[in-house]
Amino acid sequence: MRKLWIDGEFVEAAGGATMTVVDPATEEVVDTVPKGGPVDVDRAVAAAKKAFPAWKKVSAWARAELLVEVGRRLRQQKEDFALTLTRETGRTLRKNRGYADWSAACFDYYAGLIRERRGRVIPSAEAGQLNLVLKEPLGVVGCIVPFNYPLMLLVWKVAPALAAGNTVVIKPASQTPLMTLDLHRVFDHLPKGVVNIITGSGAEVGDALVRHPDVPCIAFTGSTAVGQHIYRLAADRMKKLHLELGGSDAAIVCADSDLESVSRAVAWTAFLNAGQVCTSAERIYVEQPVAAEFLERFAALTKKLVVGPGMDDKTEITPLIGRKERDGIESRVALAQKEGAKVVAGGRRPAHLPKGFYYEPTVLTNVRHGMQLLREEIFGPVAPVVTFKTFDEALALANDSPYGLGATLFSNDPRRVRRYFEEIQVGNVWVNDPLVDNPAGPFGGMKMSGLGRELGEEGLEEFLQTKHVHWDIDATPKSWWYPWTPGA
Ligand code: NDP
Repeated sequence: MRKLWIDGEFVEAAGGATMTVVDPATEEVVDTVPKGGPVDVDRAVAAAKKAFPAWKKVSAWARAELLVEVGRRLRQQKEDFALTLTRETGRTLRKNRGYADWSAACFDYYAGLIRERRGRVIPSAEAGQLNLVLKEPLGVVGCIVPFNYPLMLLVWKVAPALAAGNTVVIKPASQTPLMTLDLHRVFDHLPKGVVNIITGSGAEVGDALVRHPDVPCIAFTGSTAVGQHIYRLAADRMKKLHLELGGSDAAIVCADSDLESVSRAVAWTAFLNAGQVCTSAERIYVEQPVAAEFLERFAALTKKLVVGPGMDDKTEITPLIGRKERDGIESRVALAQKEGAKVVAGGRRPAHLPKGFYYEPTVLTNVRHGMQLLREEIFGPVAPVVTFKTFDEALALANDSPYGLGATLFSNDPRRVRRYFEEIQVGNVWVNDPLVDNPAGPFGGMKMSGLGRELGEEGLEEFLQTKHVHWDIDATPKSWWYPWTPGA
C-alpha cells in the first residue's frame, strides 16, 4: 500500500482509513491507498506553509535548475509512470509515455520562463523616488486534479506554481491516485514540504483544502458543478482561483475540407481517451453538401476502431474510468434514441469484452440542437452529427452552449477561418488540427468552462500576485503632497 507524502515523509492517513483503486480494463483492484481527511490536510498545509518562506527566497535560477531536474527524472522513469497510469486510467501505454514526456517539457518550459521573469521599474513623479512593480508568490497552492489526465493536468499546475515560488498540496482524483503518490520520486530533491501529496475523497480532502485558511490559492480542474462549489466556498476568504472546468466542444466540417483526413481527425478528437477529454468534440456540425459522405466515412472508420485494454498496443479505444461513468453514457445514448436520434456506429458495450468499463465509439445522427445530449458535456466516446446550411448557422450553433472551452474548424477558406477565430466564444481555438496543446500556449475556457489559464505566460501569472512599491529615497516628503501640513 502506498502512503501520503507530507513534509518529505511517508505517512498513513491519521484516521487509518484506506480506499481501493480499480483497473477500468479488468474491474480488478490494483492497489490500496490512504483515505485522508481534514487532519491530514492540516498536516500537509502546515508543512507547505512552513516551507514557503525559504522556498520563496530561493533564487529564480536555482529554482529553475531544480525544476529541470524534475523533468529529467520524469523522462528517466517514464516507463514506470506510464505503466501505473495505464493500470489506473485504462489508457494506452503508448499515450501515457507521451504524456510523461510532455509533462517533463512543461517543467523545462517554466524553468526557462522563470529565469527570464522580472518585475519592472515604472516612472516616478519626482527625482529621488523609485517606483517598482513586483511579482510575488501567493503561498500554499492547493492543486486538485481530475481522473482523466492525472499527470499532465497536475503538471500544468505544479510546474508554474513552484516556478513562481509557491509551495503545493496536491490532491488527485479518487479513481487515479497511484501515479500521483509515486511522484515523490521526482520531487524529493526539493526542500521538505515544498510538495505534499494527499489522497482521499473530494468531499473530505478536497473540501478541507479549499476551506483551509492557510491556502490562499486553489488550482482546480474538474467538473463545472464542483468548480462552482469551490467558487462559492472560496468567496469567504477571497481566495485566488484557477478553474478549468467542463466543455462541450464543437467541430465544424466545411464542404471544402478533405473528408478522408477530416473523418480521421474528428474520430481522434471525439474518441481520444474514450471521449474523456475536456476538449473532445461533442458536437459535430457538417456542411450540408458533404454531410452524407462525411457521415458514411466517419461511421465506417468508427466501426473499425479497436476497442480493448491499454496494455495492448493495437488498442485505439480504451475503457471509461468506472461503471457509473459507463452506465451514464449508456443511458444518455438511450435517452437520445428515445428523442429520435439514430445510432449509425457503436451504441453498445463490446460483446467481446465482458469485463471492463468499455463502450463502443458511437456516432449518432438525427439529433436536434435542443436535445440534452448537445447541451451538456458528454465525457464518453459519443459523437452526435448535425448538418448545417450556412456558415452563419454553424457559428451560431457552435456558440449556443453554456460552455466555452474549445472548438475546431475544418476549412481551407481563409475568410471563414478568420471569421471563426474572431467570433467563436472559446479559449482554445483549433483550425484543421484539433487537440494540440503547446506549453507556451495558454489553455482554458470561457463561460461555464472556467476562469484563468494554464500553460504559457498566463499560466505562470496565475500563481503570482502584484505589488506596487513607491519609495522616496531622499525621505523628504514633498510639501505639495501634504497640503494640510501645519506651517506648509
Ligand atoms: P470532478 O469534478 O468530479 O473531480 C475533480 C476533482 O475534484 C477530483 O480530485 C475530486 O475528488 C475533487 N472534488 C470532488 N468534490 C470536491 C469538493 N467538494 N471539493 C473539492 N474537490 C472536490 O471531475 P472528474 O474527476 O469526474 O473529471 C471530469 C471533469 O473534469 C469533466 O467535467 C471534464 O470536462 C473536466 N476537465 C476539465 C479540463 C479543463 O482543462 N477544462 C481538463 C480535464 C477535465 P474525488 O475524485 O475524490 O471525487
